[in-house]
Amino acid sequence: MGQHTISSSYDSEEACMEALIAMKWRKGFVCPRCGYTQCTRLNSRRIPLFECGSCGHQASPLVDTIFEGTHLPLLKWFHALELFLLPDGISAMRLSQVIQVTYKTAWLMLHKIRHTLGESDALELLSGDVKVNCDRYGGDPLRCNQFPHPNALAVVAGCTITEAGEPEQVKIHLISQKRGDRIVHRHELAKFIHRQVDISTSIILSPPLAFKLYIPLRRVVREAWDSLKSTYVALGPKYLQAYLNEYTGRRQLRRSDAEGTVLQKLLCMCMAIPAISYHKLIARQSKLPLLATA
Ligand SMILES: [Zn+2]
Repeated sequence: MGQHTISSSYDSEEACMEALIAMKWRKGFVCPRCGYTQCTRLNSRRIPLFECGSCGHQASPLVDTIFEGTHLPLLKWFHALELFLLPDGISAMRLSQVIQVTYKTAWLMLHKIRHTLGESDALELLSGDVKVNCDRYGGDPLRCNQFPHPNALAVVAGCTITEAGEPEQVKIHLISQKRGDRIVHRHELAKFIHRQVDISTSIILSPPLAFKLYIPLRRVVREAWDSLKSTYVALGPKYLQAYLNEYTGRRQLRRSDAEGTVLQKLLCMCMAIPAISYHKLIARQSKLPLLATA
C-alpha cells in the first residue's frame, strides 16, 4: 500500500490544490450553472476561482466537496486523509497532535471523512453473489451465538464475494434491538436487503438460522471490532455506525489498489460528496459529549 509514498507528490498547497482541481474537472472545466466549457482562472485568492466565459459565474473547485469552507491548509487535510487510511485509522486525539490542530477540529475532520465514506457506500449496492448474516458486534462474536456478550450489539452484515469465496464489498449495519433480545427480527433483515442489495442482479444467501452464518463474513465483523477497539477507546452505540462505515470503507479502499493509489481514490470521494456540517453532525449524533468518541 502506497500511503507513505504518495505524499511526496502533494508537498505544497499548490500541488494539493492542482490535484483537487484536476479531480473536480477531469475532462476540463464545465460551468456548473450553464455548462459552458471556456473559463478564465482567477488566482487572486487562496482558492482559485474559474469564471465562466459565457455566463460569468465564478466557480470554486471546492464547492460541494469535503473541503468546502475549510480554513485549514490543504496539506493538513491531505495528511489527515493519509493517516485515516492507516490499517486501523487514527483517533482524533492522535490526529490533533500529528497535524497540529485542536481536538475539536481533528474530530470534525475525521467525522467528515466518515460521512463521505458512508455516503459513498450508500450509493454502491451489493450485487452479484451476496451473503447476508444476522450477527453481533462486540464481545467475542466468534463465540457461539447462543451466549452473546451482554454488550454485543445486533447487526446485519452483507457482502459480495470474490471467486475465491472471500468477502469483497462489505456492509455492516447496526439494527435497533433491545439488549438481551437474541432474535433479529425478520423485518430488519428484509430492510437491509431491500436497501443495500441490488435485488434485480443478485443471488442472495441469507441463512434463516442464526447459527448458520457465513463464517468469512462473520470474521470481517470480528476484524472490524478488533480494529475499531484498538484505535478508539470507547464507542457508544450512537456513534458506532459511522465507525463501522469507516472500517468497511477503508477495507474496500485498501483492497483494490490496482487503479490509482488508495489516497487518490479517497480524494475522489471527498471531491464528489458534499461535506456534512458540524451542526448536522451534532444533531444527527445526539447529545453525547465529544470526548466519548475518542
Ligand atoms: Zn456559465
